[in-house]
Amino acid sequence: MNNESQDAEYFYHPLENIEDVDIFYEAVERGKLTKAVSKERPYTYWTIEIYDQANGIRGGGGLGILAADTRRVAEKLGVPFALITPFYPSETHQKVENGVVVDEHRNVDYKQFGFKFVDQVHIKCGNDLCKLDVVQKEFGSTRIIAITEPNFGELYSGLSWGDHRLYQEVALGFGGYAALKLIGLKPAIMQLNEVATFFAALARLDELASNGMDFYEAVVYTRKHTLYTNHTLVQAAEAEFTHEQFERYVFPNIKSLAVKKWLSDKFTDNRIKLSSVTIEIAEMRSGVSKLHARIANYRDIAGNKVKFKAVTNGIDMDYWVLPEILKFMENSEIIDAKGYPTVNYVENLELFTAEKIREFKKQGRRLLNEILKKRPDQNGKILKFGEDELIYDFRRRFADYKRPELAFHDPGRLRNILESHGAHYIMAGRVHAGDQTMQEKLRKMLEIVDRDDYLRGHVHYISDYDEEMALALSAGCNITVNVPIVGLEACGTSWMKDVANLNVMISTHDGGVADGSMNAYLNVSGKDEGEEVDMLYQRMEEAAAIWDSDFDLEYTMREQLKEFLPVISGARMMQDYLDYLFPV
Ligand SMILES: *Cc1c(COP(=O)(O)O)cnc(C)c1O
Repeated sequence: MNNESQDAEYFYHPLENIEDVDIFYEAVERGKLTKAVSKERPYTYWTIEIYDQANGIRGGGGLGILAADTRRVAEKLGVPFALITPFYPSETHQKVENGVVVDEHRNVDYKQFGFKFVDQVHIKCGNDLCKLDVVQKEFGSTRIIAITEPNFGELYSGLSWGDHRLYQEVALGFGGYAALKLIGLKPAIMQLNEVATFFAALARLDELASNGMDFYEAVVYTRKHTLYTNHTLVQAAEAEFTHEQFERYVFPNIKSLAVKKWLSDKFTDNRIKLSSVTIEIAEMRSGVSKLHARIANYRDIAGNKVKFKAVTNGIDMDYWVLPEILKFMENSEIIDAKGYPTVNYVENLELFTAEKIREFKKQGRRLLNEILKKRPDQNGKILKFGEDELIYDFRRRFADYKRPELAFHDPGRLRNILESHGAHYIMAGRVHAGDQTMQEKLRKMLEIVDRDDYLRGHVHYISDYDEEMALALSAGCNITVNVPIVGLEACGTSWMKDVANLNVMISTHDGGVADGSMNAYLNVSGKDEGEEVDMLYQRMEEAAAIWDSDFDLEYTMREQLKEFLPVISGARMMQDYLDYLFPV
């Protein structure tokens, strides 16, 4: 943190006409709230994480990937859109040393990624004033506004209930809100990508209430303009902050006594979960797949179950699909230039012949080999695969519920499958710093691999999983393994990249996959994990057989794409959000 002694002059920004309160009242009187977006009143999207390495911001996983995809799709659709996020001056990379994943840290400078300094804003940190740099970069109808300072730290650094995390979240919320005003933007809507961004909506509530609006009307106004997007399943797992921490980092930034009182009342036993207040401040709430929206178990302060609207995540096809495949899908009118499936897409999928599919996979394989030149496996070996070699991939964040170890339950059986098809199994995924369970699981898996003469040459772990690796693997492999414990994946987007890049998908019926039919892919299920493991191996055999038959390959690919193209289309996701947020 970058502290400075308090200077009241800096702190109070003029607040003229930031909100279109008059328009709001008029609309309320007419009984209809129209929240039009325009250049000056963009759709605002708040996120503690964005995964966008081209713009110098490396994320941790799916939440950040989604944020970057959402902005890119908004740009393509010409939606006025502002994404507000921190720019972290340092980022983590991973490598394997003696079977153990170790983190290394690198500094990043926003100037090298085309961000322009706008000005500084200030927030209070206890009795000090913290100066924050506002930087921004514009892309068509969209922009990224980033909040940063030299000691801002890394994404998810420290404990999730720690002071520094709270500081980062308050800096994004209050600092980001001040940054919007600085730039001259009024939010048409505030989408809160998870609860770490709660303070942005709080800053808005405070501004209204401290500028003469009746407190309850200010609450209604803020609620009607805020969407809380939840990615988590269990509220109980969420970290809590203490009242004492809020006294230092949050309350000093609130000007309205009514807002302070409102927030203070939300503590139980001196503790607060940000989800409980985010639910209060956002009238619109969404989950990230149909299944997730249905089963996310959240309660409001009164104890009532919270309803979430399902807006299933999608991906920016332009970004995640091998250019050759993308071009083919556009020319064949399977998807349009904006990335929507066309009205005739099902018929047009017939154009995906086995010959075409195999040709695209060869192109994907070349990309994979190219990227692998600088990405050695766990033994420091540079991998290169032949055009016709069969590759399974498991590439996603190494989180316990995703079960990266499932295929290793019976190493003999895994070996038989790989050996009978001359196949390889590639794994890639980040292990969260400090996640001992996953460190240990990965170490054991690598040990199993190392002990077996055949597996040693055919099972590979590529460290430092990132966007480049994600694209290369989805384009260059043949079969993807996605086996989260059913009920625990909110959506997942890795599998979407695999389906779009013509991999045969083996999956449990969970997250966004469960938006589609179980018959549209190779489903893994069972009454216990033992049965699931058995079915996974069966499916791995079936998937290999599919690649041996032109007829089966065409059939499988067309079925997968028919069912899932509408789900994975990022344009579809953006349209769903627009329909929800700006009903006509
Ligand atoms: C797509 C992607 C993700 C998303 O992972 P899920 O486990 O499917 O949510 C995470 N990290 C990177 C680098 C990705 O490209």
